[in-house]
Amino acid sequence: MHVLVLNCGSSSVKYQLFDMAAESVLAWGLVERIGEPESRAALQVRGADGDAAREVTDDPVPDHAEALERILDALERAGLGGDLVGVGHRVVHGGETFVAPTVIDGQVIAGIKAQVPLAPLHNPANLLGIEVAMAALPEVRQVAVFDTAFHQSLPPRAYRYALPASLYTDYGVRRYGFHGTSHAYVARRAAEHLGRPLEACNLITAHLGNGASVTAIEGGRSVDTSMGLSPLEGLVMGTRSGDLDPAVVFHLMREAGLSADEVERLLNRESGLKGLCGANDLRHIEQRARDGDADATLALEVFCHRLRKYLGAYAAVLGRVDALVFTAGIGENSPTVRAEACRGLAGFGVTLDPGRNDRRADGELLAVHAEGSAVAVLVVPTDEELEIAEQTLACVQG
Ligand code: AMP
Repeated sequence: MHVLVLNCGSSSVKYQLFDMAAESVLAWGLVERIGEPESRAALQVRGADGDAAREVTDDPVPDHAEALERILDALERAGLGGDLVGVGHRVVHGGETFVAPTVIDGQVIAGIKAQVPLAPLHNPANLLGIEVAMAALPEVRQVAVFDTAFHQSLPPRAYRYALPASLYTDYGVRRYGFHGTSHAYVARRAAEHLGRPLEACNLITAHLGNGASVTAIEGGRSVDTSMGLSPLEGLVMGTRSGDLDPAVVFHLMREAGLSADEVERLLNRESGLKGLCGANDLRHIEQRARDGDADATLALEVFCHRLRKYLGAYAAVLGRVDALVFTAGIGENSPTVRAEACRGLAGFGVTLDPGRNDRRADGELLAVHAEGSAVAVLVVPTDEELEIAEQTLACVQG
């Protein structure tokens, strides 16, 4: 039983092929710069001996249909063409329409199209992936797995902005939240580790990658999350500002003469860690901070201060917290960020063990809290593709 997971961007297709019985990845890869002269396909297949065979080609890939054809052809040549029971598509925005993974038909495609104004960069690319996969594999069921779906359990007090009500009813202006697949996956793994049903767990999950968000999970359901209408709200990120006074936008338009598009680009691509210190790779920022660089030190401090504020806020939202979970590139690999974020949270029941914390996850779940800490602190490697594959399988099996 194989499931193919596709993550389509405007000029790239990432894929992983899973053997669901063994929960193992059989093949994976990336076709990038689609439509450009220097497009490149990197396709890898794990052999029976566990070693990966790698095939990199740089023949031009004119469009997404050709990209998928290359992928399917590579799978066929590796003897992995059969046994496909489903294709899972990552879809960024499901709006209020989609609250769970959904088998794709014409109506679902129309529903995803209807969310394009909310995710103008992402949903059209996701739709393109769906269309080419349905054309290439008409006999295989296709499932849409939405980044927003896990957060559709937010209560109105958490998802409504304090704006005129008509902006919500007429334009869908509310908080949706993102990274739902990752938050759901690590929450499930954390509950397994705690030895309790997810429905009995209150968790705070911090997905800290180049994009970053925190979620408050009550009884297994998302009840608050830091991203909003778009992924721009909340934590400081690699290149996104996260929370800021909306007046900054008018000020920049009036005083710096920037257009709405220029401000949007500035806040999404030139801000966050990059804005503060010129770099968005935390490894380099940590090294620069160790070497005494003041801008890098400040960037780290702002990042951790914002994160700590959210942890405290979500402890207040939940009342009781069973575990605080760190995941994604920074959450899994930076003991410094975990220690700084948890500093001073002993009053909330969070105490780290410095020795246990001073490790990287390397694919394993780590418990990094001190003996006697009321709140468990866990490092749980995320696997969004596996979560999409599992949800796809559950969906096609009805
Ligand atoms: P992601 O978006 O989940 O791939 O995470 C990317 C972020 O994780 C980047 O800021 C990386 O610098 C950071 N990261 C990856 N590995 C490490 C590491 N060993 N130490 C600190 N940060 C890391």
